[in-house]
Parts: sequence; C-alpha cells; structure tokens
Amino acid sequence: MKIPKIAIAGGLTKDFRVEFAGDYYTKVNNNYPNAIFNAGGIPIILPLINDINIIQEQLSCCDGLLLPGGIDVNPLSYEELPKPLLGNTNSLVDWYHISLVKKAFEMDIPILGICRGCQVINVAFGGTLYQDISYATETQILHKQDSHLSERCHPIFIEKNSFIYDIFGSNYLVNSAHHQSVKRIAPNFKTTAVSPDGIIEAIELVDEKVVIGIQWHPEMMASNDEITLKLFRKFIDCCK
Ligand code: MN
Repeated sequence: MKIPKIAIAGGLTKDFRVEFAGDYYTKVNNNYPNAIFNAGGIPIILPLINDINIIQEQLSCCDGLLLPGGIDVNPLSYEELPKPLLGNTNSLVDWYHISLVKKAFEMDIPILGICRGCQVINVAFGGTLYQDISYATETQILHKQDSHLSERCHPIFIEKNSFIYDIFGSNYLVNSAHHQSVKRIAPNFKTTAVSPDGIIEAIELVDEKVVIGIQWHPEMMASNDEITLKLFRKFIDCCK
C-alpha cells in the first residue's frame, strides 16, 4: 500500500548568533509533521526556492500539500495598500507559498492550508484579507489567545455539506492564533465555518479538487484530540 507523502511548505526564521547573523533558516513547527505522521502520512518539508520549475519538481515527489501558519501576507499581492496594523511580511515567503498553491492546483494535488495557509489559499485564488481583524468588526471576540494552542479559545459554526462537517459536526471549540482573516472570499470558494463574530474560520473550493483552508491551528490539537486528528486523516485519504 502506498503511503501518501505530504509536502509541508517551509517558512523562514533568522539566526542571530554572531557567526550566522541575519541568515535565514527553513522553519516548520514540528506539530505539522507530527500530525501528518500520526494521521498515516509521510511528511516532507520543502525549502523555499525562488524558481517555479523547482517548485514543480518538489511537488512531483509528493501527493498532497500542507501550507502552515506564519507571518502576514503582503496586501500588495491582493492590490490593497498596507494598513497600520499589518504585521511582518516577506516577499519570498509570499511568492513561494502562492506559487506552490497555484502549481499544486494545476497538478491536481490536494491542498490543506492552516492559519496563514488558509489566507494564502484565498489570496492565490483571487480573494482578499482583513489586514487586522479590528478592521472587520466592532463586536470582537479573542482570536489571538495568550494560552498554549492546546487550549481552546472560541466556538465555530460549521456549514453542512462541507469537508469539515463530517469530522467536527455543526459546531466545535477551537484554538485561535490569528490577527488577520479572509475578507472577500475567492471565486469558486465557499465559507464553511465562522466564529460568533462572523469571522471566516474555514473555506473550501467548490469543486472535485480538494482545496481546504482552516483558520485555527488543528496541528496543535491533533495530539490530544482524536476528532481533530481525523481532519488530517481525511485530508491524507484524499491524497492517495
Ligand atoms: Mn479565530
């Protein structure tokens, strides 16, 4: 039996030791590969290479693509000017992640985006983001929790007939570590979960192809929540 290989897009982190000062390292929180492994897949971490042909070759070794959380998406990539509450952005990370999404889609490789990954998917397919959730709504709830992400933060309400409804049911308590969110949803996508203040917490492509965006951090809950682990199992099943 073939075990699906799941590409996990790298992020960047800086080294501040004197002899490496300012150098970038490829960064992936180990909870992502652990969740993929525990759900029956083989995690493969992709370093950020600024070449579209290399992206194609990287993806051709894999059966699924996971886009992890990370820094903000530069609003210039969805034709908005940066607002005061925008966080840190990086043009290589944006280009690499958005190119991965487009190439994986072209290659019929299922895509799961988590937190920033959900936002990258929306932007890659033509949607926009709130640069900070305070720009979205007056009636705010907490979306950037101080407690560890194994703790829950707020409920989400889930659409029937969605990828995640069969796993989580009509509502579920999730963690929350984002200050941006989907604003205008990309064409051919639908909202499949919202929080009580109306913030979009999950999106999916309305198509046979599997493209799922999750705004919370299931990889931080999968090790002690059997239901959340099923999300990764279901995604990996789509990658066979
Ligand atoms: Mn949230």
